[in-house]
Amino acid sequence: DGDSYGVLPRPCRALVLLNPQSGAGRALEDFQAVVQPMLAEADVAATVFVTERPHHAHEKVRDEDLSQWDTLVVMSGDGLLYEVVNGLMERPDWEEAMKKPLCILPGGSGNALAASINYYAGNDHVAKKKLLTNCTFILCKGLHTQMDLVSLSTASGKRLFSFLGFGWGFISDVDIDSEKYRWLGNARFTLGTLQCLAKLRVYQGRLSYLPLVPTAQGTPRDPPEPVTNGHIPLPAGTGAPGSLPPDSLLVPLGQPVPAHWTVVPEEEFVTVYAIYQSHLGTNLLMAPAARLRDGCIHLFYLKAGISRTALLRIFLAMARGAHLDLNCPYLCYVPVQAFRLEPRAAAGIMTVDGEALACEPVQGQVHGRLCRIVCG
Ligand code: ADP
Ligand code: MG
Repeated sequence: DGDSYGVLPRPCRALVLLNPQSGAGRALEDFQAVVQPMLAEADVAATVFVTERPHHAHEKVRDEDLSQWDTLVVMSGDGLLYEVVNGLMERPDWEEAMKKPLCILPGGSGNALAASINYYAGNDHVAKKKLLTNCTFILCKGLHTQMDLVSLSTASGKRLFSFLGFGWGFISDVDIDSEKYRWLGNARFTLGTLQCLAKLRVYQGRLSYLPLVPTAQGTPRDPPEPVTNGHIPLPAGTGAPGSLPPDSLLVPLGQPVPAHWTVVPEEEFVTVYAIYQSHLGTNLLMAPAARLRDGCIHLFYLKAGISRTALLRIFLAMARGAHLDLNCPYLCYVPVQAFRLEPRAAAGIMTVDGEALACEPVQGQVHGRLCRIVCG
């Protein structure tokens, strides 16, 4: 699929969306000291847009004349790129807008996509300034390719687009509880993990999924039904210009999942995490097999009953991507195309790409190659 790659033009006009509050608050300084000189060498002209508040980047890219820019660069954590993706998807011309190559430079405390892209490029595992240098070098080279997104729908009617992961329970609690330690940089997650371990709790709900490949336990009860009009209701307006891509694998949240889905028998979890990139954080290699456009949601869940020691062991092993080798009976992994999570109570925090989401029933499916990203 050679034509899926492209290269940024020279000279290159880059709009850099930069969150000065991200990470330890040094994104602007680091940009000027590390990034700017390298971009100048590579004939990339950077126009910096400093965000003043949450949602600022979302509004900027939703309303921007994109023909002025060859790439939209985010210098922050994953949260700001999440705003950019969803701002672009709100545009009436989203299909055209999503062809604009995006780029992530790690300026935040949670830089999972930057760490993943560094890993896909075959670079050594690095963090902090070295990761920033590697990602800036990747931007200087200017190669870009397609990336999958996951469309998430909530019971209250929200439709969100996610490039990194959806979480519930322990991992999401760590993510949100540790935001007060953002000044620690990536170490905020280590401290947060230890704190959340101390008050370890169980989350009740039902998890269902559509496996990527048919399960080994024989043929499904009902073969997957082709999506035809009338059978699975498509969102109103499908096909009209500007309408969002339909979730052809999902049925409305009010209805049971289709018969060929798998429903997890256990209904008590420590965490559920659906990840679509390799890294959950700079030092957490959660899905070593994940790639930018593998058409796959890597679904992990931890069943209730796991001890604190075993849980800690899993997180320590995740630094090397070796957590599945522990063969812990409480840790489950399945590659899927779609999933649904129905929490029993509005308890616990949910996160999308590290950003908090009100706890309610959610389902999602992968949309292959929906955007473009600068990669190594
Ligand atoms: P980090 O990895 O440090 O969490 P993120 O990029 O995820 O960095 O950003 C965290 C949050 O900061 C996002 O929700 C974003 O909307 C918000 N944000 C963006 N600009 C600002 C600003 N100027 N002040 C405060 N918050 C901001
Ligand atoms: Mg964040």
